[in-house]
Amino acid sequence: MWKCPKCGREFKNENQRHFCGDPSKMTVDDYINSQPEEIIPILNKVRETIRKALPDAEEKISYGMPTYKEKHNLIHFAAQKKHLGLYPGEKAVEHFEDRLSDYKTSKGAVQFPYNKEIPYELIAEIAKWRKETGNHA
Ligand SMILES: [Zn+2]
Repeated sequence: MWKCPKCGREFKNENQRHFCGDPSKMTVDDYINSQPEEIIPILNKVRETIRKALPDAEEKISYGMPTYKEKHNLIHFAAQKKHLGLYPGEKAVEHFEDRLSDYKTSKGAVQFPYNKEIPYELIAEIAKWRKETGNHA
């Protein structure tokens, strides 16, 4: 274990990249920039994709993840170790089931492995669907 001398958090790897500041003040930029370098371009593209799909949404960190909100939370994403986690809610995952058949899904979540092409178009469609249907399950 390695303990960051600045923030006191503990990590498996020495000098692991992380957001060193007050977690309640973390921005989406901070979140993305604290991830492993090789996935930062993917995260930036996911962010750009969702912002384009939901131009009126408020962007913030919620539940420790980048979150897009219009009245209620529409969609979240998160950098997991080996995959991008997308959290559009249970109904969206059901609705797009056929097109997500190549990916691992669970209640309200989809896993897009980094070693496969990330389907940005599909992510945009899911984000728009979430807004249009207004469901927040
Ligand atoms: Zn730190």
